[in-house]
Formats: sequence, C-alpha cells, structure tokens
Amino acid sequence: MASSNPTATLPTARPNLAVRVRRWFDSAAAEEVDASREDRIDWLRAAPFVALHVACVCVIWVGVSPIALIVAGVLYAVRMFALTGFYHRYFSHRTFQVSRTVQFVFAVIGASCVQRGPLWWAAHHRHHHRVTDTPDDPHSPKIHGFLWSHIGWFLTPRNFRTDLSRVPDLAKFPELRWLDRYDTLVPVLLAAALFGLGVLLQRVAPGLHTSGAQMLVWGFVVSTIVLFHATVTINSLAHRFGSRRYDTKDDSRNNLWLALLTFGEGWHNNHHFFPGSSRQGFRWWEVDLTWYGLKAMSALGLVRGLKPVPAWVLQRARS
Ligand SMILES: [Zn+2]
Ligand SMILES: [Zn+2]
Repeated sequence: MASSNPTATLPTARPNLAVRVRRWFDSAAAEEVDASREDRIDWLRAAPFVALHVACVCVIWVGVSPIALIVAGVLYAVRMFALTGFYHRYFSHRTFQVSRTVQFVFAVIGASCVQRGPLWWAAHHRHHHRVTDTPDDPHSPKIHGFLWSHIGWFLTPRNFRTDLSRVPDLAKFPELRWLDRYDTLVPVLLAAALFGLGVLLQRVAPGLHTSGAQMLVWGFVVSTIVLFHATVTINSLAHRFGSRRYDTKDDSRNNLWLALLTFGEGWHNNHHFFPGSSRQGFRWWEVDLTWYGLKAMSALGLVRGLKPVPAWVLQRARS
C-alpha cells in the first residue's frame, strides 16, 4: 500500500560507529536497531568478547608459573560461586536474603565474571524459566541448536538489552543499575589489578617467575574464558545430556559432571522442577558446592533464610 510518507517504510539506519563502540563501555548508550538485525550477531559489539578468546593464545609468549595457575584457579572458584550463589540463586530466584552491603559485594564479584551486570543476567534467566525450551526461550538447544544456545544468543541486539520490567525488585537499587549500565568497568579494573600484581611480584618475589603480562593472561583472560564456557554449558549441555528425575515440560537434565564444573548447577532438572530452593543437589550425594558455600555464609551470618527442598518435591521424584 502506498504511503504518504516515502521514508516511513525504510528500515531504521544503523547507529554510527562511535555510538556502537561506546556501548562497549556504556550499555545504556542510545541505540536504534533495524528490526531485521535484532536477532543477528552484532560483531562489532561482540569484538571485545571475541578478542578475549583470541588473547588466550598469549599463553605461548607469557609462559606459566604455579602462582599464575593458583590465581587463575582461585578466581575461577570465587567467581563461579558469585555467579551460581548470587547471580543465579539470589538475584534471579531470590532463594535467600542478604544485607544490601553483601548484595553489592557479590554483585561486584559477579560483574567481574564478564557476564554482564546482575540485572541483565537475572532478567534473561527469569525469562528462560518462564518460556523454557519454547521458541521464546533465548537459549534453548532444542529450538536453536547447540552453538546458538551456548554462545550465539547473547551477542544479538535483542539480548544485549536488560528488560527492567522483569527485575523490578532489583532495579530499585541504584548501585545495581549503575553496575549493570557500566558492566565492563569491574572486569577492566580486575584485569588492571592482576597486571599490577604480576609486576609487583616480579619485583619483590622474582623466584615466583611471574610477570604482569603472565598474571593478566592466566588470571584474567584464561580464567574468564574457562569460567564463561563452564557457565553456559548449563544453557546448552544441561538441556541435552543427563537424566530426568522430574517430568518437567522442558528438556532439563541432571548431570554430575556439569554439577562438578559449575559448583552444583548441573542438577538442572531438579532446578527447573523447583527453582525456589537455595539448593540444587536434592540428594545428599548430589554434590552442590554452592549450597555448601551458602551454608557456610549462613553460619557466619552473611546470608539468611536459605530455602531447603520441600518434602513434597522429594516425594514427586522418580528416582
Ligand atoms: Zn535451564
Ligand atoms: Zn534458574
């Protein structure tokens, strides 16, 4: 049908380069996306993420030392706990309570994981639970295939955004909104701190055989990439491989190996059946390191109101 305004049917112009680059640092920078590009990977915006992968090859030049491996391992463990215990079980599912200070501290540690801010993470995850393994699920391997569910979906304009209407309980905290908006700041500070640590150790403890570049590559780059791929196995593999204790409408599975890798998140069929528990390993033998960590924090008075698995949930189990 003819339009009185000939420009009305033209697609929206792509934003200029400066605005697109600014979004690396300011996720709220104004954007206008052509509707046809909403679900296509924005390679320019994804460039730092791709570069982080490529930077892993720098291990060839920086060498390795026990201290660099220890720092990388500790950062994997601390950050995995922040993701599973806080980004997931606290911010996304509100399965316990904490003070505003503890909430902020773990939001900062979570932000250092380079998996964006707590509001972005929780908003997308809540949506995943609402529409699991349907065409509306942003990362269903059943609908979109392995690669897209693992690494493609979150690099699209649609999924770069944080829908605050899904997280009104979290969006009321200005410090969380700020962390979410400037979601690359904490990772950059961590990288700089690790480089500084390496330089310092090289000077005061040369016997450790490390350097600024080595600490940056192992402590930040390699640790972050391994952490990322471990985390997203829950989106991709844990909806494909494993057993199903509960007859949920989705394809979620329980998988011991993924549970070990992700500190308890691999008991994903348990979790999809009953997301309201702070615990995801429902049986005593279902190793759930995050649950043990949260119990320890509870004993120290740092978290309260941990939600156990209700008896009716255990009774509904098939195995
Ligand atoms: Zn899931
Ligand atoms: Zn969940």
